[in-house]
Amino acid sequence: MNDAQNAANERPAFTLDGGRIPFTPGQTIMDAALAAGVYIPHLCHKPGSAPHGSCRVCVVRANGLELSACTTPAQPDLVVESEADDIRALRLAVVQMLFIEGNHICPACEVSGACALQAVAYHCGMLTPRFPQRFPRRAVDASHPDFVLDHNRCILCELCVRASRDDDGKRVFAISGRGIASRLIVDSPTGLLGDSSFSKDDAAARVCPVGAILPRRQVFRIPIGKRYYDRSPIGHVGDVAPRLDAEDVEL
Ligand code: SF4
Repeated sequence: MNDAQNAANERPAFTLDGGRIPFTPGQTIMDAALAAGVYIPHLCHKPGSAPHGSCRVCVVRANGLELSACTTPAQPDLVVESEADDIRALRLAVVQMLFIEGNHICPACEVSGACALQAVAYHCGMLTPRFPQRFPRRAVDASHPDFVLDHNRCILCELCVRASRDDDGKRVFAISGRGIASRLIVDSPTGLLGDSSFSKDDAAARVCPVGAILPRRQVFRIPIGKRYYDRSPIGHVGDVAPRLDAEDVEL
């Protein structure tokens, strides 16, 4: 047994789908699973960003309770199920609800193949929308010289809100309203992105997991079919960066 295995054996651990996951106190179920190379589907979680628990895609059953893996602290001898049939069905329903809540038309989307929502849907085996499509009519904000903000594609994950606040120190984005009326808003005199302090150098410019914060002039640099999730499905071990990233887009 090598030093790394000895160190892992000395750490507390919980059970995830029958396997043992070592963790460091303070880690969440998600943190520990990803560190151990076990993928739990997620959209609003990003390593290094404050846990949020808003998308609910990472639903697991922990000691009999359905919880979000990204916000639940790992504890010794916790018994967690992520791949049980009913949990997978619950997760699939969450993804299907995300699809019909906005306008996610994958074949016509500039980020097809590099979109985490699309990739998670493939991972979960989604074949149909299942629920009635809402087709909301939302604004497309094309006021910024380097980005388009398409509210039709926003899944309200708040990754841009957290990145702008915590990494950029700007608070360009926020969520307004509650429930079905929730929407992303921009802090500027007009409410438009082009009148805000948002910059292509911001961390918030690189976190959107879907095509809502869309960089101009770059999205077809890599053809559909050869993009991030075209090359490697999202469930592959080590794939914890579900977003349109610098590898695919040079801002
Ligand atoms: S614009 Fe993108 S990053 Fe921001 S909340 Fe919407 S989906 Fe999330």
